[in-house]
Amino acid sequence: MSADYNQLLDATIQHLEGLKARDVRHVAVAPETLRALAQPAAKFPISNFQTPIEKRSAPPAAKFEAAIFPPTEKTVAPVQPEITVSAEPQSAMEKSAAFAALRERALACVKCPHLASSRKNVVFGVGSIDAQLMFVGEAPGADEDEQGEPFVGNAGQLLTKIIQATGLKREDVYIANILKCRPDTPGQSAGNRKPTPDEMATCIPYLHEQIDLIRPKVIVALGATAVEGLLGKTIGITKLRGNWQTYRGTPLMPTYHPAYLLRNQAMSEKRKVWEDMLAVMEKLGMPASEKQRNYFLKA
Ligand code: URA
Repeated sequence: MSADYNQLLDATIQHLEGLKARDVRHVAVAPETLRALAQPAAKFPISNFQTPIEKRSAPPAAKFEAAIFPPTEKTVAPVQPEITVSAEPQSAMEKSAAFAALRERALACVKCPHLASSRKNVVFGVGSIDAQLMFVGEAPGADEDEQGEPFVGNAGQLLTKIIQATGLKREDVYIANILKCRPDTPGQSAGNRKPTPDEMATCIPYLHEQIDLIRPKVIVALGATAVEGLLGKTIGITKLRGNWQTYRGTPLMPTYHPAYLLRNQAMSEKRKVWEDMLAVMEKLGMPASEKQRNYFLKA
């Protein structure tokens, strides 16, 4: 085992530990690198670590495996002729790496200079990247811009309640917006505005990539802007809600934005959203109890 290799390995581990200490939870690793890590030791391309060719030697498989895929229990790793990584965890790692890389790109985005200069945070998205259910809203408001997380203000709290009413937790689903930056409101200290078609067209590729990576079974589009951004349809949400649509092969349920329910407190409107959610639950194979089926029905 070469001294250079050990030095590089130690430096890599030290770097990763430093990131972890700073609360960094994801590192971007190119899919080729992940694939290479799963290769038999002798074939492992040390070039990924930029060791000069003349100094390269075969990497110590067991140590490398332990460093990259730490064992969950304290056991002595059996000596194996090859690093064996099953397809599942490897693709999970690739997915997580690709998602982290996408997030980094979005966080550094300055494609809309007016939004990049007015924002406090890029609001990328939150939740499980393995979620079966994904919610898409319009754009961050002031609270979301402040905290860097979608749907944390009043409308967000209502969305969380809707999610919980299905029996799921906020962490079980994925929540994102058409726009990752708060639409600026120059000269105004409060208030929101609808994203412009230009802003939507500029930002939507990030959402497309998020959906492609998460591959949810169902998408819920919250309000007219989400429907317009995902489906290009400008038919009123009142007409469209409750009617299944398809986003690139994925069932999409349009429903009212929770902010609408805050403005219009009528039980009938809450029931409509709830019926949309019951349809979503059915599509996901989630059984609804009698009590759940009766939410927001007049006594
Ligand atoms: N409204 C949205 O559409 N998205 C948010 O993140 C918050 C409010």
